Amino acid sequence: MGHATPRKKLAIVTCMDARLVNFLSEKLGIKKGDAKVIKNAGNVITEDVIRSLVVAIYCLDVERVMVVGHTDCGMKSVDAEEIKKKMLERGANPYFTPNLKCWLNKIDDEEKNVIEGVNIIKNHPAIPKDVTVEGYIIDVETGELKKLC
Ligand SMILES: [Zn+2]
Repeated sequence: MGHATPRKKLAIVTCMDARLVNFLSEKLGIKKGDAKVIKNAGNVITEDVIRSLVVAIYCLDVERVMVVGHTDCGMKSVDAEEIKKKMLERGANPYFTPNLKCWLNKIDDEEKNVIEGVNIIKNHPAIPKDVTVEGYIIDVETGELKKLC
C-alpha cells in the first residue's frame, strides 16, 4: 500500500456536508495524494472511523490526525422521530437497532463534538500516543479555520 501513503502523513476526519467538498481541501492546502480523508455525518468518531485511522496510521505512515467540524452542521438538527416516521412510510424498519436516536449520533454543539472526538481518538487503546491529534472548526461561509484543541 506504499503508493497510497499520504504525502503529508496526515488524516482528516470531517463531515460529509456537501459545502465542504473541495472547499475544505482548498482551505487546508490539501492536494491529490496529500492526505487520507474520512467523512461521515457530523464527523462523529465511531468505531469505523477508528478502523480507518488504524489502517492510516499503521499501514500508511500517518502521523497527524485533524478532526475538522464545521459551522451549521446538519447533524445538530437531525430529528430521529422524523426519520423513524419516514422509514415507516417507506416500508423500512426503524427498529433494526435498539435505539435509533443513539445510533444516529445527533450532535448538540459542533465545537464540543470536535473536542469530544479528539478525546475519543487520543484515549482509544488502538491509537498510539505518538500520533498528533488536533481539533478544528471551519466556517462554511468564510472558510475561516479555528483550532479548538
Ligand atoms: Zn456537518
